[in-house]
Amino acid sequence: MSSPIINFLKRFPYGNVLAVLTSISLIAAFFCWFNIYHTQKYEPPQPVSHPVLVLSETPEAPFEEKTKKHKIAIVIDDMGGSFKQTKLAIDILPPEITFSFLPLGASANKQALEAKTKGHDILLHIPMEPLLNVSPGKGALLTSLSDAEIKNRLINMMRKFTANYKGVNNHMGSKFTTDERGMNIVLDILKEKNLYFLDSRTNKESIAFDMAKEKGLPTAKRDVFLDNEEGSEEVQRQLERLEDIALANGYAIAIGHPHTATIQTLAEWIPLAEAMGFEIVPMSALTEEM
Ligand SMILES: [Zn+2]
Repeated sequence: MSSPIINFLKRFPYGNVLAVLTSISLIAAFFCWFNIYHTQKYEPPQPVSHPVLVLSETPEAPFEEKTKKHKIAIVIDDMGGSFKQTKLAIDILPPEITFSFLPLGASANKQALEAKTKGHDILLHIPMEPLLNVSPGKGALLTSLSDAEIKNRLINMMRKFTANYKGVNNHMGSKFTTDERGMNIVLDILKEKNLYFLDSRTNKESIAFDMAKEKGLPTAKRDVFLDNEEGSEEVQRQLERLEDIALANGYAIAIGHPHTATIQTLAEWIPLAEAMGFEIVPMSALTEEM
């Protein structure tokens, strides 16, 4: 006990106790300082985390689907019946419109060839028996005919119509297209010749479309008649219906006739429809898709 501090403290009462307490306090203070200094290391500021809205990642639609347009096919029936009206349709309507020619029409072959040269798809418009007492025209297919006669008449019409056509649709036929025997003969011949069948659906009881499908023929059926009443207002109304059906189903099929109002209204509507995003396609484009 020779330390000068201790010796100094010894001069006071309780000096030893005070010395011990002071020493303990100094040591404790040193350890506190050491601990705090060495644990307060520099921490770089953490980025503030803001709440972020994470959108669920829906897979991108394939390119094809995004660009896929609603398709519309328009067929003008009864072509070749009137030279003048047939000429008007060929002169005014663009090639995406399909023309269906009456095979025995006076100018059918000549005008069908002209339409084909201009790029139109051609159909053969086969006269078939209606329910009403209206003549379907010369050489029409009737339910009263024998199997052989139905076959003969159909083959005869096909021979006489020399244009290169891809398919057939019915002219009238509200009775014949509900007749299983008759339609069976017709569809078998079309299948043999690789032709498609468009059911004009002049009768909603027609079995032709379903039969053609069963037989494996490319086929389709009409959605809208453009001009059951003549005049541009009716055509305009029916074109709007056609657009709605195409929007709902992805495609739609209309049939019109070579009336002046129908031709003019259609010619004005086509560029507008295309600008709205519809694609006007030849009839064969839709039967191939089905
Ligand atoms: Zn017709």
